[in-house]
Amino acid sequence: MAEKSPIIISGGGIGGMAAAMVLAKDGHAVTVLEQATEFGEIGAGIQLGPNIFKMFEYLGLTDVINKVVFFPEGLGMNDVRTGEKVIRVPLGDVARAVYGFPYGVIYRADLHQVFLDACRALPNATLRTNARVESYEQSADGVRVHLAGGEVVEGQALIAADGMWSKIREAVVGDGKPRVSGHIAYRAVLKREDVSEHLWSNDVTLWGGEKTHLVHYPLRRGELFNMVAVFHSNKYDEGWNTFGDTTELNERFAEACPQVKELLAKIETWKMWVLCDREPVKNWTDRRVTLLGDAAHPMLQYLAQGAGQAIEDAVVLREALRFTKGDIQDAFQKYQKARYLRTGRVQLTARFYGDIYHASGVQRELRNLMFQGGKESAGFAGLKWMYDGIEPSKLFQ
Ligand SMILES: Cc1cc2nc3c(=O)[nH]c(=O)nc-3n(C[C@H](O)[C@H](O)[C@H](O)COP(=O)(O)OP(=O)(O)OC[C@H]3O[C@@H](n4cnc5c(N)ncnc54)[C@H](O)[C@@H]3O)c2cc1C
Repeated sequence: MAEKSPIIISGGGIGGMAAAMVLAKDGHAVTVLEQATEFGEIGAGIQLGPNIFKMFEYLGLTDVINKVVFFPEGLGMNDVRTGEKVIRVPLGDVARAVYGFPYGVIYRADLHQVFLDACRALPNATLRTNARVESYEQSADGVRVHLAGGEVVEGQALIAADGMWSKIREAVVGDGKPRVSGHIAYRAVLKREDVSEHLWSNDVTLWGGEKTHLVHYPLRRGELFNMVAVFHSNKYDEGWNTFGDTTELNERFAEACPQVKELLAKIETWKMWVLCDREPVKNWTDRRVTLLGDAAHPMLQYLAQGAGQAIEDAVVLREALRFTKGDIQDAFQKYQKARYLRTGRVQLTARFYGDIYHASGVQRELRNLMFQGGKESAGFAGLKWMYDGIEPSKLFQ
């Protein structure tokens, strides 16, 4: 099989589309196989740390992202029961001064669209929907990817960006189902006019408390208001983008302060996610097949980094392919080696931050003491390694 056959990417979410864009821009033929009937993203917001804006700058996307991103004024934590402030870190100038890049929030569909539009403009990117990848086989010089329905797609390599329940991961890593954390997220997006002035904030605000928290922030240019309510639950079913039970939500937030209750009451229909992650692994590559994004390193959302880490993955893959001059197997090994400790650290630290947000008793007091004891930027202090980001051009020398 000629080396010019396409690099196949299974999954056209944020990770898959980011990989498709960066590789196609570098001249590789890529074929994205997405199981859904159309490309798209769920209607919810995500946060993007300075490390991701560094990647946007590196990829020449800063201007197009800036058109759809919202730059919150601060990042704050309040006590969910008493309403008292725990910490507030000003963003904007502070994030830029400390990390060189801003902190932003974006509608998922807008971020996905940026990558999708870029791919559609590239003749060497083939984007297919209704293409569910079931399995693969490989030889010394290529892969054969089997789709539901029997079709076989051939290529020089397979990058599996098929998310938390990746089919390909089963074959490459074989570590069973994701770990159900016991935490559940309810998400909803409101229009600006549906949020009264006393509830509106231009910050990313987290109301933390025992086994619960609520996060909210504006989206787009302040046209929308994103809310994510998280609580511990003994529901252990797998759930992704299904409808939530408001009775359970209200029970879990029964002790919350009036402002939080008022916000929660704004929503009639929530979408629900049972939150899962996995233990970090260091080998997610099988010769011409590798994993990217949640397929490689699924993490809890407490550091708001899952999509961002998928974008970093895509950039590192490109650098590895450049460095090895297109030697796929060598590039995939180099990519994995450059990524597994950083992404593993985010996976494990995210669990710890879940405990911090949901603290009670002495743990809560200690958290408040630690957060309140430092300078304004102290809330970021333990995460400098993460927000500093990566230096793509220095990775492989
Ligand atoms: C409540 C919540 C809040 C979050 N907040 C943030 C945040 O603030 N910031 C942040 O960076 N991240 C956040 N995340 C994490 C982020 O959503 C994920 O890390 C990110 O979506 C991973 O992207 P991905 O492309 O790897 O996987 P996915 O988004 O899961 O995309 C996988 C794609 O593959 C397709 N697919 C699956 N199986 C197959 C198959 N067999 N064949 C073909 N296609 C297939 C799917 O249809 C999908 O399109 C949050 C997650 C949750 C649950």
